[in-house]
Amino acid sequence: MSRFLQAEINLNALIHNFLTIKALLNFNSLNHKIIAIIKADAYGHGAVEVARVLEINNVEYLGVAFFEEAAILREAGVKSRILVLFDREVEGLFRYNLTPVVFDFKQAEALSNEASKRGKTLPVHIKVETGMGRLGIYENSCETIKKIAGLPNLKIEGVMSHLSQAEDSEWTNEQIKRFIEIKNCLNKEGFNCVFHIASSAGLFYPQALFEAVRPGLMLYGYSCQESENHLKPCMTVKTKLIDIRKIQKGTPISYGRTFITKKDSLIGVIPVGYADGYFRKLSNKAWIIVRGKKVPVVGTICMDLTMLDLTDIPDAKIDDEVILLGSSGKEKITAWDIATWAETIPYEILTSFGSRARRKYINDIKENKQ
Ligand SMILES: *Cc1c(COP(=O)(O)O)cnc(C)c1O
Repeated sequence: MSRFLQAEINLNALIHNFLTIKALLNFNSLNHKIIAIIKADAYGHGAVEVARVLEINNVEYLGVAFFEEAAILREAGVKSRILVLFDREVEGLFRYNLTPVVFDFKQAEALSNEASKRGKTLPVHIKVETGMGRLGIYENSCETIKKIAGLPNLKIEGVMSHLSQAEDSEWTNEQIKRFIEIKNCLNKEGFNCVFHIASSAGLFYPQALFEAVRPGLMLYGYSCQESENHLKPCMTVKTKLIDIRKIQKGTPISYGRTFITKKDSLIGVIPVGYADGYFRKLSNKAWIIVRGKKVPVVGTICMDLTMLDLTDIPDAKIDDEVILLGSSGKEKITAWDIATWAETIPYEILTSFGSRARRKYINDIKENKQ
């Protein structure tokens, strides 16, 4: 039996989320540019397909983590401007017409040298530290940026930073204050560039919007806090029942006998396990939808298999569709739900789980046009 784990990616939902973010931003009629973050294969949704849809919808910028990701997009014909967040690549940037984020002076020098050699001017964004403790210029930011601006053949197009704890408004305001101090210093020197600090969670701070924003998670339909919102999750993950067994009361299920049936039970088996990114930590915790009803995962999740308690669904059949992430009828399992059961965040669920499933894209709008 071959493995069947399918991720359905709803591109209409992606467009809906993109336009929802735009509407949220343009509410105050300032035209903030959107740098759509599609790193980690668009959070498991497929970077090329996601980039194509965003490009058709006039996204200003795409953002990836590494050069290699940007090269894949260019090879696939993506023309939009691409910001490379975390890479020291030099030559490839010119080959593929990419914009790097510069996070130290040495990197700026290397880029300037190569640009001069080629007789080209390279646009760059500079990253400054404001409290994330990861990458970015962390000493004399304003002075260092002025020094970078003095290097030949570089054009500072943007200055950015990153919020480390947007759920804490006091700390976030402190980070924004530090960013504004650097911005004011640069503005005084006559710098005219795009400033950006807000990822999805930052969008809820009007004072963090500046000229551009960098949403990732919200594009895929999730807010940074588990709350009501108008976003639509893009990803549904499903599989099929490969077996159903009638089991007597008192029977142990799976490794370690962590679950013993409390009554005569119907146990379903699905061909999904921790090798698919369905974390072992979800053992005896997660729920799954079968025939429009939620049923619990029972016993330890194996490498390739997981067991479900189907006792409440006596008409379940082998080959029935099983939804691990997504909705069916009135029932819904979100990446937030799975993240809560696994004691992690929805980002990790989407990137680990979605990325390993076979993908199928849904795009009604396109189909209607054809
Ligand atoms: C991942 C990332 C984002 C997007 O964050 P979300 O929380 O998914 O919106 C924005 N900026 C940087 C620098 C990132 O690394």
